[in-house]
Amino acid sequence: MTDLAAPPRHPGGHPGGHPHGAHPHSAPSRRNLDFDSAPFIAIWETTQACDLACQHCRAMAQPLRNPGELTTDEAKAMMRRLREFGPIVFVFSGGDCFKRPDIVELVEYGAKLGMRMGITPATTSLATKELLQHLKDVGLTRLAISLDGSNADIHDEFRRVNGSFDHGLRILREAQEVGLSTQVNTVIRKANIDDMDAMTELMTTLGVVFWEVFFLVPMGRAKADDVASAEEFESVFHQLYDLSKTSPFDIKATAAPQYSRVVMQRKRAEVRAGADEDVHEVMTRGMHYSQSDGIGRARNVNDGDGFIFISHTGDVYPSGFLPVKAGNIRDDDIIEIYRNAPVFKQLRDRTLLKGKCGLCGYRDACGGSRARAYAMTGDYLAEEPFCAHEVTRRVPSRGSR
Ligand code: SF4
Repeated sequence: MTDLAAPPRHPGGHPGGHPHGAHPHSAPSRRNLDFDSAPFIAIWETTQACDLACQHCRAMAQPLRNPGELTTDEAKAMMRRLREFGPIVFVFSGGDCFKRPDIVELVEYGAKLGMRMGITPATTSLATKELLQHLKDVGLTRLAISLDGSNADIHDEFRRVNGSFDHGLRILREAQEVGLSTQVNTVIRKANIDDMDAMTELMTTLGVVFWEVFFLVPMGRAKADDVASAEEFESVFHQLYDLSKTSPFDIKATAAPQYSRVVMQRKRAEVRAGADEDVHEVMTRGMHYSQSDGIGRARNVNDGDGFIFISHTGDVYPSGFLPVKAGNIRDDDIIEIYRNAPVFKQLRDRTLLKGKCGLCGYRDACGGSRARAYAMTGDYLAEEPFCAHEVTRRVPSRGSR
């Protein structure tokens, strides 16, 4: 979901001001993060149980918990070991993490370990204000909910449960009332491309610090036909970049590192037109919003490269969208997996990329979605199949991490 970035290059504040008043000039720089040694972010699936039945669910979620899920003690041991990487971001995901009765205990445990934590519950009645207050009290930092459309018709059709959209808005409001920092996650797919204008308008009213825009990867219940075209991706990237100039929140594209390429291209064009921009910087204005709660976001995280995913039964993957298992925390050491498992090492070596991604001047800053390459071709080093960029010459790039 996130990462700590360099100090804001937009220190004068934003039109509309900061939603929580804070302006974290002092947030530490993560420009020189060494993703060979440690991820920026670890996401734990907690459970696959969920009362929603989303059309494109990565986790193929189901109503009941799997008896093989990590136990409370196993989860705590995993968190202790992950903490040895350093102060990485840890996210309780799912399924619906609120299906686990030990969720508050685990958040409290993470807080005592000094973890920076986010949580992504399903938009259902399980997310009560009382529970949100409890999580805030024991040390949760940020709560993210999914909104996949600007209205209930679009969102609920995707999530396949009436009332999910209204719960999403309620949870956001109540989370803010108890003092949690908030985020919205949105899945971009062919079916909601035409809703983007209305969605961006809605977003500016919600008081969140971060909008994480996921570009569909055809795995789990999602099919290749559900994915928007490369040209539609490109159009949304430009829309997001335009929005980033004035939005009262930070914006990140997930499973679409091509957005970094568009940011660099747009900045180059602006410099040619006389603007003062760093053309090697893939961060956009607004990054200080995601830094305001201490979570922030890091540049150029990709599957297995700054990112690690642990399933509900302890299997370890480069991301939740790239189902190439590298080990299991019940048998293997998670630090050893991240640093030395062949799939992780290959994913961090961008000289191994094939096709146009291998030749592209934006390879270091982008590298294409390794998950989508795998989903479409079976080869996680293949070129990103949904990139509209025409590679004509190798452009030197720097500042890639
Ligand atoms: S060709 Fe590959 S590396 Fe280049 S911008 Fe497209 S996805 Fe990124």
